[in-house]
Amino acid sequence: MQVGTQQDRIEPTKTTPTVISRSEHCISRAEINENALKVLYRLKDMGFKAYLVGGGVRDLLLGREPKDFDVVTDARPEQIRKVFRNCRLIGRRFRLAHVYFKRDVVEVATFRALLEHDATTDEDAEVQDGRIIRDNVYGTIEEDALRRDFTVNSLYYDIRNFSVLDYTGAIQDLHTGTLRFIGDPETRYREDPVRMLRAVRFAAKLGFRIHPDTETPMFTLGHLLHDVPPARLFDEVLKLFHGGCALQTFELLRHYGLFAWLFPATEQALAHEEQGFPLTFVAKALENTDKRINSGKPVTPAFLFAVMLWEPVRLLAQRLREQGMSELPAIQAAGHEVVTDHVKYTAVPRRFSVGVREIWQLQRQFRFRSGKKPLHFLSNPRFRAAYDFLCLRASAGEDLNEACEWWTRFQEVGSAEQRKMIHREPTRPRRRRRKTKISRRHVPA
Ligand code: ATP
Ligand code: MG
Repeated sequence: MQVGTQQDRIEPTKTTPTVISRSEHCISRAEINENALKVLYRLKDMGFKAYLVGGGVRDLLLGREPKDFDVVTDARPEQIRKVFRNCRLIGRRFRLAHVYFKRDVVEVATFRALLEHDATTDEDAEVQDGRIIRDNVYGTIEEDALRRDFTVNSLYYDIRNFSVLDYTGAIQDLHTGTLRFIGDPETRYREDPVRMLRAVRFAAKLGFRIHPDTETPMFTLGHLLHDVPPARLFDEVLKLFHGGCALQTFELLRHYGLFAWLFPATEQALAHEEQGFPLTFVAKALENTDKRINSGKPVTPAFLFAVMLWEPVRLLAQRLREQGMSELPAIQAAGHEVVTDHVKYTAVPRRFSVGVREIWQLQRQFRFRSGKKPLHFLSNPRFRAAYDFLCLRASAGEDLNEACEWWTRFQEVGSAEQRKMIHREPTRPRRRRRKTKISRRHVPA
């Protein structure tokens, strides 16, 4: 690893941690997941070192509720497996132990080292074009601390005496609200480009400022995301946009030029019309997603991708219509093409992409407001998502307010009123022209 030249860069050689004793910090065991505590105590009782690490410690120190609790130990995966009966080893890239409790699973990792130390270990690490392919290199706690991403993610809560260990100046960064990469940021982004997305995610979630050294390479290294497996990017996209700060995340991703590597077609459409409907539409949708998540309502990946890819689909469908295709086939063909192209970047699993296309195709159904169709449509399992999508389009400026209001009312009123709303004025039956029977007898010979 390159050692930074700037004064405030983290020195990878620092091995003595700053110890924050129990009386000097606010983490109480009552706030730690009980199963994570069980795992920590059991490892300690078996003579291993055991710490809580990562986001759990960071969030507790910030007075936030952690999303999960990660445990790290000096026990090797095989040893962890022997300690816990309810344990499975997982992962190809990192060998991790999952300890299962009824509805809970605690992830336990073995201390890992930085790449250049791999010669001293019995494991190998593979690097391709600067990117880590496999890094199952065991190490000491000091090494483990320095191979983590941000200083604030590198704090260790010691189950032996409940102190917190800081190897990287994390406490100072927590106080100042700074997100700072450990080591040389550019090298570390090249090792794993997803770290740039993590920077954006944590900056939005924690409201932290990204340190200038940490953010400078982000403006130019977005293209590295192109080499990240699309399935991993799909997971990251969900973390980015379903974390409760989607709107800010979106703005930061665009600011650093990273969004274009996750949603290229969308970025192209947005760049084309910077102030207009598409941007308002995406921004309103993300604001909405944040509200739903923050009030505990469910959100679905299908809706997120339907929103993100709508503008490219709308534009393509429009072009196909101009070429003479009728409405439904045009939206179907456009949807198919845009999704097929998009999954090369973020691999949306089929179970979601089917839903995405349905939301788009159902948009035209909102036009039919009499006869049997509306009631039938209401019972479609995709109705609610399609309806939310319609109202979002209306609120972002498409000429759909009337349709949105009609369908809102249609769902609210009782069945008698519904019948009135869809009542179709009987049209006079068309008189059928009587066919004159031609009897064989009249057929001229
Ligand atoms: P949260 O769970 O709240 O999203 P977190 O910091 O716990 O945040 P995880 O993805 O759970 O994030 O990862 C746990 C820890 O593993 C991180 O805090 C960090 O120390 C380390 N880590 C995760 N991903 C990387 C990475 N790509 N490069 C280096 N370290 C990483
Ligand atoms: Mg975590």
